[in-house]
Amino acid sequence: MHPSDPLSKHFPRLNPIQKKALEKMGLETVRDLLFTFPSRYGEKIETRRIADLAKGDTASIIGRVSKVKTGKAFKKRFPIGEMIITDDSGSIKAFWYHQVYLAKKVPEGELARISGPVSQRKAKEGSEFPGELYFSNPEIEAVSGPEVATAGSLFGDGKEFQIPVYPETRGLSSSWFHHAIDRVLRGRAHEALEDPLPPHILKKYHLPSLATALIWIHAPQSPENAEVARKRFSFEEIFSIQLARQKDRLAYLDNPSFTIKATDAVLNDFLSRLPFPLTSAQRRAVDAIAKDVRGERPMARLLEGDVGSGKTAVAAAVSYLIVHASAKGQPLQVAYMAPTEILARQQYASFIQNFKHLGLPIGLITGAGAQKFPSKISPGMPTDVSRTQILKWVASGEMPIVVGTHALIQKTVQFKNLALVVIDEQHRFGLAQRARLAKKHERVPHLLSMTATPIPRTLALTIYGDLDLSVLDELPPGRKQVLTEIVPPTKRDATYEAIRKELKTGRQLFVICPRVAEPDPTKEMALLAKSATEEAKRLKKEVFREFEIGLVTGKQKPDDKERAMRDFASGKTQILVATSVIEVGVNIPNATMIIIEGSERFGLAQLHQLRGRVVRSSHQAYCYLFTETKSPKSMERLKALATAKNGFELAELDLAMRGAGELSGTKQWGISDLGMEAIKNIKMVEAARAEAQELVRKDPELSGHPLLREKMEKETGEIHFE
Ligand code: ADP
Ligand code: MG
Repeated sequence: MHPSDPLSKHFPRLNPIQKKALEKMGLETVRDLLFTFPSRYGEKIETRRIADLAKGDTASIIGRVSKVKTGKAFKKRFPIGEMIITDDSGSIKAFWYHQVYLAKKVPEGELARISGPVSQRKAKEGSEFPGELYFSNPEIEAVSGPEVATAGSLFGDGKEFQIPVYPETRGLSSSWFHHAIDRVLRGRAHEALEDPLPPHILKKYHLPSLATALIWIHAPQSPENAEVARKRFSFEEIFSIQLARQKDRLAYLDNPSFTIKATDAVLNDFLSRLPFPLTSAQRRAVDAIAKDVRGERPMARLLEGDVGSGKTAVAAAVSYLIVHASAKGQPLQVAYMAPTEILARQQYASFIQNFKHLGLPIGLITGAGAQKFPSKISPGMPTDVSRTQILKWVASGEMPIVVGTHALIQKTVQFKNLALVVIDEQHRFGLAQRARLAKKHERVPHLLSMTATPIPRTLALTIYGDLDLSVLDELPPGRKQVLTEIVPPTKRDATYEAIRKELKTGRQLFVICPRVAEPDPTKEMALLAKSATEEAKRLKKEVFREFEIGLVTGKQKPDDKERAMRDFASGKTQILVATSVIEVGVNIPNATMIIIEGSERFGLAQLHQLRGRVVRSSHQAYCYLFTETKSPKSMERLKALATAKNGFELAELDLAMRGAGELSGTKQWGISDLGMEAIKNIKMVEAARAEAQELVRKDPELSGHPLLREKMEKETGEIHFE
């Protein structure tokens, strides 16, 4: 058997449903099957000898199947299936009522594992023998090579082992995978695979070879086997991501940039004009950035900070340094990109505020139009101008500061001396867009990416591994806490009434609809949109009849979305219903309340971020975590949110609470569940990073490691935000 063989060659008897399922899962070759890993391992089941079973046991045995019969039970006329299972100590019957097909799951003569409760018939009258033992409606599973082999002697000698459990789809059960993969392993297909990880790395970190790891992950002889195998594959994934990021990083840093000979006096001038002193976290970030831009290489830095932590002031400070530097008599240029039109307008206003004393022109470019500050006619004000006009000023270098949406990176926007790019909410912008921006210029601009999404350090080091990291882990003083309340169904009505009172005083409300777990992203988006649309209707009809309700979903056209946001910002609507992908960073000081429906379905960090929507105001803010969960563990998590303040703490907590049993099979942040296991381990992440850096430095094209290169190229850097 060869890894590249199509599955149909070795599994010719697949039925159409199974074929379709394989196709849907993207499994075409033997190799694909080998890399379909168990999502967990079943409870260790102790295999018993049939002779040792007793009435009332719940037990598991392995034996050979014979005498399979299906039909109607004699008197009762309901369907029944039965078989006899035999091991070297004896035989036992198994019966299935109704689910008769289970009796045919394993053909006669083959080995099966039978697990379930052991019952006993009544003894025959007058007989000195006890009644016969039997399994009633047990689980049945085909048992194959490795499992039997690891059980030592063929028939239950009491040894423990772990049963891999694979993600199931219609037509393909976990045991189908188990069986099929076993056949592939016995066909020694895995031995033909080349190991992409260099031997020195395997040795240094005590990782098993690819062939060994494949056996251990599918057929572990001990929990340690499985763990070591998983460790290897998760290292491999993180390492591949790091290779891609470190290569990007090298490619970016390899370019000449603008050396900003900014003085402390300039910086202090800016800071003294701010109406507040910087927090020490802001100060640290500003200092790190100032140091970056003084160098010869372009800065590539990520500024991470909770909503309201004051990222704008940091970005403004560095922009101030940039426009004080010049090339051939013209100030250097700053491009500030925001994810939405509203945010772009907000930042534009804040730039005008901070920079107007300099008398430099400031521009705004969005899909909706363009503006310039100051207006010729009334110099204290901005004015509408044509896009063409603004583009001319940008291209000639006369306009040093331009704020905009991603309209800013379209081909038609040419800068003369672009020295700094600020990207707000950077996870919205893929690496490709970033690269496009860099490519347009001889000298590469400094790059400051900002995000309000708190993520654990290990995760940041991985997905943003091409960037240096500054963290604002401190809020400006005097912020009111958001009162966070867990609302079970019984308190729902009372909560709506409390909210109504606030709405009547003129406050506004966000309603966030639950997440929907659906692997297909398009379907997921449709489902989310549907639930939000329905919730908006329901609220209007049944709860908040007297208020205007707006709606934002991922399915809307950008224009409709913007309009809904604008109507909410202007107070035309009092309630905004949104899916979980609500625009980040929007400043609506009057929105002081947020309801999060199905809150137990969100990660803590995401809940915290959603809650950040309502901290912008001087009014008391409220966050209502609606939930129907009864699980103590879920309640525990939600309670952590009610007490915690810092998004980073919550993100770390989220990560720590991810159990191996909660694997979702989907990718988060572009990292598989298996890869996320490595993210829990700072040592592993640092090792992967250091090794990747070294390898890329020595061999930037990875020409000596074609397999790694292939893997690296698959890591496009598109980050999937929930
Ligand atoms: P974000 O990090 O979410 O982008 P902003 O930059 O919008 O946060 O800042 C939120 C608010 O906090 C703004 O009104 C800003 O003026 C204010 N702010 C920022 N830094 C400080 C500070 N050091 N002290 C007091 N207020 C601050
Ligand atoms: Mg912001």
